Amino acid sequence: MTDAPVPHLGVLAVQGDVREHRAALEASGARTTAVRRPAELAAVDGLVLPGGESTTIDKLTRIFDLRDPLRARIAQGMPVYGSCAGMILLADRILDGHREQQTLGGMDITVRRNAFGRQVDSYECDLPIAGIAGGPVRAIFIRAPWVEECGERVEVLAAVEAKGESHPVVVRQGNLLATSFHPEVTGDHRVHALFVEMVRSAT
Ligand code: GLN
Repeated sequence: MTDAPVPHLGVLAVQGDVREHRAALEASGARTTAVRRPAELAAVDGLVLPGGESTTIDKLTRIFDLRDPLRARIAQGMPVYGSCAGMILLADRILDGHREQQTLGGMDITVRRNAFGRQVDSYECDLPIAGIAGGPVRAIFIRAPWVEECGERVEVLAAVEAKGESHPVVVRQGNLLATSFHPEVTGDHRVHALFVEMVRSAT
């Protein structure tokens, strides 16, 4: 055992699969809080934006007065991991978004919502991810986005081939990490462990 401090992580809990992310983070050595209020956000060292419905999460974060505090913490460098809808929320630009939909932004990426096709509810594959040892990660994509364009500060850690092109599905920019898929549903905690390490090195 090491004496490394236990990071205190939040999971944005206005909608989406909060419980599974908390379990995966706790299995990776973090302590967690469900974040629904600005005071809860202020207390955490890092945050997970879960999958769910990005239009709903966008609306609810505004109603709960979390949008400005979230944008401020992201701008100050708080580590954030966004999964699926969470990736959309971290993106500076969206394609196929709802007319009034806003993102929190922070990552210099353009994401396409429901990129695998409107009819494609889910898609699975074994995905090698740069920086994650121990073989590919089982990736479950549920009405998932992918990255259409990214700026030069963005590292692409994994991509899928579709329609003859390569589409980034795991990206990192400094303290921000995003995956198009849902690692919290498989019992493989390596993506969460990578994020907990990012938080440890940032704090
Ligand atoms: N399609 C959803 C959205 O646009 C994301 C789906 C998910 O998070 N599983 O928000």
